[in-house]
Amino acid sequence: MHLMPIIQFYDAVVSDILAQTSTVKTFTFDMDKPIEFQAGQFVMAHTTKEGQPFKKPYSIASPPYIQDKIQLCIKKVDGGFMSNHFHNLKMGDRMKLQGPMGVFKIKEPIQRDLAFVATGTGIAPLRGMILNLYHQKKVDSIKVWCFLGVRYDDEVLFWDEFQKLEKEHSNFKFIPTVSRPKNWTGETGYVQEKVKKYLTSPKDVDIYACGLAAMIEQTIKVLGEAGFPPEQMHYEKWT
Ligand SMILES: Cc1cc2nc3c(=O)[nH]c(=O)nc-3n(C[C@H](O)[C@H](O)[C@H](O)COP(=O)(O)OP(=O)(O)OC[C@H]3O[C@@H](n4cnc5c(N)ncnc54)[C@H](O)[C@@H]3O)c2cc1C
Repeated sequence: MHLMPIIQFYDAVVSDILAQTSTVKTFTFDMDKPIEFQAGQFVMAHTTKEGQPFKKPYSIASPPYIQDKIQLCIKKVDGGFMSNHFHNLKMGDRMKLQGPMGVFKIKEPIQRDLAFVATGTGIAPLRGMILNLYHQKKVDSIKVWCFLGVRYDDEVLFWDEFQKLEKEHSNFKFIPTVSRPKNWTGETGYVQEKVKKYLTSPKDVDIYACGLAAMIEQTIKVLGEAGFPPEQMHYEKWT
């Protein structure tokens, strides 16, 4: 029997800040004690706003085999309180994180090829899942696809890392697609269209998707119409 990790509060200290794009930063937090979680879960970030407690969820972008640190990949939203709070953090600053939470996880046993589908920072929980699957050697005999939709050429997240994974594993394919391209020579347009283009045998794949609610709803609709079985589509909607 696999016990669910216990939800606890962690005193987390910023130990690295990587500016991935002009609006997305990946923060590494040193945890005051090891955190046990499953790939795909999130933490609740706690702070105060105008003297009142304030919290928002953020997916853990790092894999669960690293427990003394976690990474959060956060987009700075215009006028948004919590995302700006994160983007103002400096090295050594502290945050109260609570977790792990959430039920977005890989369904086992893995019976089919896997396709991960995200827009923007929706890639965060999927990155943790993909790194963990390769670490555990659970996907050696299937194909693993990762589709990431972004608006502009310079917004592809974890690009170097996914390219490295492609070189190391011939069964892994990373397909970034840009909806407002300038000098982009790769795929263009919406992410759900790329899934349809590359995955021509819809019943042979399990899909894990993450992103803002509108994108997820559109993806499920488009892929459902294209013959992808609803019970093989797993997703986390961000509201
Ligand atoms: C389970 C879960 C996990 C999440 N994980 C992450 C994560 O890993 N990384 C991450 O960046 N966010 C993540 N989010 C979203 C996050 O919780 C906040 O909603 C987001 O950071 C905005 O919070 P805010 O207080 O800055 O802005 P708010 O005051 O909540 O929003 C300001 C405005 O911006 C809009 N908005 C909110 N998010 C976005 C967005 N991404 N792009 C464009 N417009 C937006 C809102 O609709 C609102 O109109 C997650 C949400 C959920 C439910």
